[in-house]
Amino acid sequence: MANATQEQIDEMRRITQENVCSCGAELQIRTNPEKDCLEVGCPIDRSHQGYIERTTYTQDMRRGAVVPVYFENQVNKRMLPNRTDLDRAIAMLKTRFPAADMDHPSAALFIMNCWRLDIDPFLGEVVPVTFASKGKKVVVTIITEDGMLSMAARGCPEKWAGTPMVEPVTDPELRKAICGESDAWVWKATGRTKDMAEGQTTSAYGWFKQWEQKKADSMGTPAADLPGNQARVRAIKRWIRENMPEAKHRMVELTSEMMERAEGVTMALEVIDAEYRVLPPGEEEDGKDKKTTGPDTKPKQKGGSLTEAQLNYIIRLAKERLGLTEAQALDSYKGLTKKAATALIEDLRAMPPENWVKPTMQDKEQKGLFEE
Ligand SMILES: [Zn+2]
Repeated sequence: MANATQEQIDEMRRITQENVCSCGAELQIRTNPEKDCLEVGCPIDRSHQGYIERTTYTQDMRRGAVVPVYFENQVNKRMLPNRTDLDRAIAMLKTRFPAADMDHPSAALFIMNCWRLDIDPFLGEVVPVTFASKGKKVVVTIITEDGMLSMAARGCPEKWAGTPMVEPVTDPELRKAICGESDAWVWKATGRTKDMAEGQTTSAYGWFKQWEQKKADSMGTPAADLPGNQARVRAIKRWIRENMPEAKHRMVELTSEMMERAEGVTMALEVIDAEYRVLPPGEEEDGKDKKTTGPDTKPKQKGGSLTEAQLNYIIRLAKERLGLTEAQALDSYKGLTKKAATALIEDLRAMPPENWVKPTMQDKEQKGLFEE
């Protein structure tokens, strides 16, 4: 009898429900006699690897396809009101997302973000998530997988050539080479854009590490039960960020704005960083942080000094994870270059909770952390 936990079986079932094989065939769950395990596979050709999302009319329509008029009308009825009707949009938003507990200005800001990004909260493309710490509340705009795909399709119609294909990475050595951990969940997204040569594709990887799964588990968030799906979604989002310049440009803007507003709310900053990281460390775009000002903390230095937002974020993380005082952290890190600060943030964020010097988890009360 092949080995599989109930969670693995549930995940395989979900994959077969939501995807088809890259050749278009219905996927099936079957036994792999060599590995003595269950796996998802193509009934036509065992060597087929990738899955393609099975889409709904709503998704097709939002990605530029022609759908039957009846469905188009149904979708239009559910959508966010147009830009002249902010009050109605806010009322609808509060009804649809009561748990986000938004005040009027936060709701207005969220709606305006949706309008600007051209994505719709009532079609499941974007979700408001509220984080609170020490009396300060921040509403973070979380774009879902559907939102990313529809934003890319409508933002870059001249490049959009369909959703990328996805597949899990099962080779432990390859996983280690990709993200540094052989037992992480790793998925690969492969797709093409209209401007690529015939047959050309690009790929992007997404991963979810064991410590992230443990953290999600301790906080009771959905990512704990679907770690593979979390890695899959990250791969798709990363592929879009890397291949769809218009979508990427809008996200870069949104990210720096949200980072400023979320100042001091550690968990919100972490979520924004995980959701919207566009560039790998050391490749910050010039001028990206030019709006930030900080008289005390910005030594004018060639090569680019760290921004005030970065310094504040590092101080929070250093207090939480290294047990430093604010003064010690400020003293140690204020002279860093932007590049070094980016790398340090990366390292501090990757630090597993069991290694934190004083794991205080300031935002522990925020159990509603949203993950796909
Ligand atoms: Zn197939």
